[in-house]
Amino acid sequence: MTALLEARGLYKSFGDRTVLRGVSLELAAGEVVAVIGASGSGKSTLLRCLNLLEPIDDGQILLGGEDISDPRVGANRVRARFGAVFQSFNLFPHLSVLDNVTLASRVVHRMPRAEAEAKAMGLLDRVGLTGLARSHPDRLSGGQQQRAAIVRAIATDPEILLLDEITSALDPELVGEVLELVAQLAAEGSTILMATHEMAFARDVAHRVLFLDDGVVLEQGTPTEVFGAPREPRTREFLARFT
Ligand code: ADP
Ligand code: MG
Repeated sequence: MTALLEARGLYKSFGDRTVLRGVSLELAAGEVVAVIGASGSGKSTLLRCLNLLEPIDDGQILLGGEDISDPRVGANRVRARFGAVFQSFNLFPHLSVLDNVTLASRVVHRMPRAEAEAKAMGLLDRVGLTGLARSHPDRLSGGQQQRAAIVRAIATDPEILLLDEITSALDPELVGEVLELVAQLAAEGSTILMATHEMAFARDVAHRVLFLDDGVVLEQGTPTEVFGAPREPRTREFLARFT
């Protein structure tokens, strides 16, 4: 099995604080991997390094076998192969939902507007946001905004979806509608790497779980292994907070 995405020995520091300390991981096409770990353990930094939003200090990142951590690689071209959704709603506030969703298709992928909008409307319909397509993001609930952000991320048919605690800023009653959409995408065979504190969701949807502890992948395995029989005391300690 060749990995679609592979990280080898990633190191990342901010000043004298080393945040990633030799992180390696593999993500196969169609695989859903959950990254769990305490706040500050490096989850967001890891995701941001993988799609070249942060430069790494050492290590290698391979996407479809290509070394995308090579400084000669064009970061924008690489980033266009990922779809990313973050914790806080990052739709562009001055653009309608529809324009948010079509922006990358039109500007980065040079898709004609009519085609991009037809595709976007199909996706928005699917997540129940047709009626809000012409609205600005501030008219949407948090759950609607995150569903729109997911639609924006998948509108360009990315090879990999990076989801960074996309439900953490939501009111509890809005979490379900967002996770439901992620579960659908997972069931359709999307390749997903997600940092999450939703342990029940990770258990149900992820194929593999990776526990990040202070910048190190301390433990990884199937949800049954990691949640059911964690080997490392620190994993047990972390998981105990969620039960
Ligand atoms: P997590 O997502 O697991 O909560 P982060 O990757 O956000 O962890 O942060 C890991 C550590 O890196 C934290 O100590 C955080 O303060 C630090 N950090 C993250 N981004 C930056 C940055 N841009 N500059 C300085 N420190 C940062
Ligand atoms: Mg984070």
